[in-house]
Amino acid sequence: MSSIVLFGPPGAGKGTQAQRIMESTGLPQVSTGDMLRAAVKAGTETGLSAKTYMDAGQLVPDHVIIALIEDRIQEDDASNGVMFDGFPRTIPQAEALAGITQVSHVIAIEVPDGKIVSRICGRYTCGNCSMVFHDEFNPTTEEGVCDGCGSNEFKRRADDNADTVLSRLSAYHEQTSPLAAWYEGRGIFHRIDGDRPIDEITTDILNVLE
Ligand code: AMP
Repeated sequence: MSSIVLFGPPGAGKGTQAQRIMESTGLPQVSTGDMLRAAVKAGTETGLSAKTYMDAGQLVPDHVIIALIEDRIQEDDASNGVMFDGFPRTIPQAEALAGITQVSHVIAIEVPDGKIVSRICGRYTCGNCSMVFHDEFNPTTEEGVCDGCGSNEFKRRADDNADTVLSRLSAYHEQTSPLAAWYEGRGIFHRIDGDRPIDEITTDILNVLE
């Protein structure tokens, strides 16, 4: 069993690429952000404790995240590995992950800070199949109709606003970006220029994974 990590700042396109490469790799997408939002919506204890951090654009404490991943990795669909999206985000999370599953590739999708705010503030997802879109850079083909499933229900994340994005970016630089060197030292870190058309990025990621 071997897993892949999609790494990068908020708004880099990790979720978009995860959905696209899921078909080729056969690995399920495991997004800690999606899991936390589901927990918040369900009103679980984890959700209640995570919400304050998420609303403020801060990282949720490591022990909460690691417990979520330990549970998720036990599920049947994870037996051949998974594609992590938004995890790990700190060195303690990466250390915990190393004890849970083998990671074959860390794909870093790089986007300059100056592009992040506009990429995040215009994004929305399908309320039914979770496909990710963007008002300007990646709109639905037919207005108001999801390309993935035909639904006409879309949602925007509460934390996708200009104020929170800046806190999320500082959390990324302070707590998450040191992980690049940690994984580089292990020879599994691959940088991809994420400031290009979505299809080109997908092609490059698939080439790395071949
Ligand atoms: P995301 O959907 O990956 O942008 O995550 C949304 C928010 O959930 C982040 O701003 C954090 O508050 C929290 N979060 C998601 N994944 C993690 C993680 N691996 N470690 C800590 N906090 C996380």
